[in-house]
Amino acid sequence: MVAPETLYRRGRFFTAGDAPWAEALAVDGDRIAALGSDDEVGALAGPGTEVVDLGGAFVVPGITDAHFHTLMAGDALRRADLVHAKDLAEIQRLVRAWADENPDSPWVLGRGWLHSSIPSGAPSRQMLDEAIADRPVFLDANDLHSGWVNTLGLELLGISADTPDPAGGEIVRDGDGAPTGELKEMAVVLAWDHFASITSDSERDERLRAVLRALAAAGVTSVVDMALNVPDLYAMARAERAGTLTARIRAHVLLLPDRDPMTQVEDAAALASRYASPWLSVVGVKIVSDGVIDACTAAMLRPFSNGAHPPAIWEPDILRPAVLAADAAGLQIAIHAIGDRAIRIALDAFEEATREKGATSLRHRIEHIELPDPADISRFGELGVTASMQPVHADPAIRDNWTAMLGDERSTRGFPWTALDASTRLVLGTDAPTAPLEALPNLFIAATRRSALDRSLPAPPGEPTLALEAALRHATIDAAWSCRDEGERGSLEPGKLADFVVLDTDPFHEGPDSLLDARVVRTVVGGRTVFEA
Ligand SMILES: [Zn+2]
Repeated sequence: MVAPETLYRRGRFFTAGDAPWAEALAVDGDRIAALGSDDEVGALAGPGTEVVDLGGAFVVPGITDAHFHTLMAGDALRRADLVHAKDLAEIQRLVRAWADENPDSPWVLGRGWLHSSIPSGAPSRQMLDEAIADRPVFLDANDLHSGWVNTLGLELLGISADTPDPAGGEIVRDGDGAPTGELKEMAVVLAWDHFASITSDSERDERLRAVLRALAAAGVTSVVDMALNVPDLYAMARAERAGTLTARIRAHVLLLPDRDPMTQVEDAAALASRYASPWLSVVGVKIVSDGVIDACTAAMLRPFSNGAHPPAIWEPDILRPAVLAADAAGLQIAIHAIGDRAIRIALDAFEEATREKGATSLRHRIEHIELPDPADISRFGELGVTASMQPVHADPAIRDNWTAMLGDERSTRGFPWTALDASTRLVLGTDAPTAPLEALPNLFIAATRRSALDRSLPAPPGEPTLALEAALRHATIDAAWSCRDEGERGSLEPGKLADFVVLDTDPFHEGPDSLLDARVVRTVVGGRTVFEA
């Protein structure tokens, strides 16, 4: 055997493989050449081998964020960050400050506001006009399911009393029918479409650079992108050609409910056959079948506490043909479904798609699964549907409004990531930018149910935690499995891609609580160090 290029020794490697622990790892090219004890692997070193002494540090396989929005997260990193703003005055101050720092930006852009930070939970254009009236302002809500615009912004977007609500969306209106400045669900897309039309390729490249830097620093070596558009895909392809992609991207193309599903599926299949490299591939389609609980836009079997009882964005009559067409085209299907009714509709569609052939190799998936009906939980395993969940959305610090909107016993059985039976493949992600993209706080919540935002908060009673080893597997090998990559990456085994992360803390020794303060020391992707603290 030829001596390896690099040898990492004196580590504590959690491999997520059949042999879960190792002390040393050898890298040749972009692959793992050997793994084992210091003595075994150390004996492979030759005169040209670079030896890295890890000094006993803890190492995990590179983390895969199983639900991510790559360019949106990069965009968010470049906007006014409102997530910690506690009230309207602070939001107004932060928006003004960003506007002063970015005098040339055509729009004043922010993200991350919470309904709970705004009087009555009802944002208005006048509230933003008080801060800035002479430039257009648009602020995405933290969950990206609502947008908030000032008066000039509404004018530029062409949204007036005469504008009809788009399918699956609402332009919130006052008593006279005039837009209040809040846009919900598919109405937000009116603004996003406008921004997409004025975003330059160089701005897209900047966003990608910003998010790749942040991912490397967070120990994330792969992401499953959940709502790709073509210009963003081209930005990723430019980075791949330039050799600057430092995270692997598995992408789902967003299908829209008001366009012909067959054409959209054909377009997605064409992209999937064109983009299929170890760094960048299009694996499937994404369908957003309902909204969210916080804004009472999720599709529920019973109404919300305020009486709201909206339909699904994709009712079965349109969901069914789209799912059957995408399945027949060999595309993985990811359905966003949060409310118990949306989850049931999604499972029904997958059941029909897989009835003939049994669970397919396509690994269809449901995203979020915040409130499944107990009767549907066993169907994930039976149908072979991947359960993709985001512990960070269950942070106790942001659960008050969520709980109030449900208003009854339903709120005690949310985010059931331990209720799924053993035959269900559970994968973990952050849904950044709806939540921070940092992977370790997300795993902290998975393994403790405590808050990463407010350490004083206790875990909600009765919500079981994931074992640390299980949480790590769901974020590595299982997440790789969810995009059919388990033979190539996700665990540390000879022959697989050398994607791994060195941490300054060993949570198996220090306990899962230590994940909140653990820091990434080094991130290696394809054998190359892409981040070093
Ligand atoms: Zn998402």
